[in-house]
Amino acid sequence: MPPPRTRGKALRHRLAELRGSGVAAKALDARALAALAANPGCRRRALLDGAGVDKTALAGALGAPSAFGQSQFALTRGNAFEARVKTDGGAELLRLVHQRLDPGAEPPGRAGVPDLTAVGPEGRTARTALALREATGAGAWTLLDHPMLALEVAGSPVFLEPDAVVVHPDGTWTVVEIKSFPMLDGSADPAKVGTAARQAAVYVLALEDVAARLGQDGTAAPRVRHRVLLVCPKDFSNLPTASAVDVRKQRAVTARQLARLTRVQDIADALPEGTCFSPELPAEELTAAVEAVPATYAPECLAACELAFHCRARSRARGAVTALGRAARAELGGLATVDDVLAAAHGEAGDPDDPAVAALRRAARLRTEALSGLPEAEPHHPREAACP
Ligand code: SF4
Repeated sequence: MPPPRTRGKALRHRLAELRGSGVAAKALDARALAALAANPGCRRRALLDGAGVDKTALAGALGAPSAFGQSQFALTRGNAFEARVKTDGGAELLRLVHQRLDPGAEPPGRAGVPDLTAVGPEGRTARTALALREATGAGAWTLLDHPMLALEVAGSPVFLEPDAVVVHPDGTWTVVEIKSFPMLDGSADPAKVGTAARQAAVYVLALEDVAARLGQDGTAAPRVRHRVLLVCPKDFSNLPTASAVDVRKQRAVTARQLARLTRVQDIADALPEGTCFSPELPAEELTAAVEAVPATYAPECLAACELAFHCRARSRARGAVTALGRAARAELGGLATVDDVLAAAHGEAGDPDDPAVAALRRAARLRTEALSGLPEAEPHHPREAACP
């Protein structure tokens, strides 16, 4: 086996071939990294993201442009709300952190808000690490407004900018996510909260890297809290309210996904020679290249991935039951297509001992009886006779 440096060079060369001649790699950001965790089984997304393919351009070239992304209006509204939350040195934001996450600590009075400006992302990352080190031993509240963190993904640093990180008087660190969707009567849209939690989990992983480095000089590594603070407008006002969100699960899934990204070599090796995802190629060639990588489409992709319209169309064309949602897929066991499901329901295929097949046959029979108005027929199988 070649040494790691040679393997890394070979992988970078292979990924550049997949992007196409002269196509620059698209940098990942926290939103993209978080979206990876929304569909952890998708090898297609893992490869395309790992190779730095511009999925928006690819979706357009495939004839299925993405409707994924934030509108300009949502961005403007989000920025205005964030500015409001952070006015007066972040006094309201710190009050919410204290109230929701650390009520036993002294109330935040005048907190430190260090200047994090520096030249370039590397400079800002170093400045943030220094500010975190100084704040951790200070025994007081500190607010880091738009710090810069770095996370190594597939051998390259990805720079990430959380809305805020708060250092508590006990030296622990909390990620703060500020979103412009409303929290009604204390709860918000679960899908939006899930997306925010996955994004916050990426920041938690990046902060843990910083904490581990600070702990290398013999002192104990600072603790990064796994409950983050989600700040949203209260009801339909623009007053802030907040909720603590436990991101342990999202953190674990994202960490697994990122480890998988470093093994994109395995996925790339399974592709036919000459496979390329350059948006310059004809649509048929691109479709063949994309279809060569296994995907696991689910309706959740519509809110998380630029290729969702393409993958949904292919999934529907194959009659894949995943297009109906993960819950339906789980209920149907080994029946992967709508044709398989119908054949099983009509008694033309499938093992009658399979609970999914038995349930489908009973449902089909009940449907026929309901439509015909006839009394219930005798069950065909002993398992079905036991059904209520
Ligand atoms: S849209 Fe397609 S590529 Fe994207 S995560 Fe879903 S299945 Fe994977």
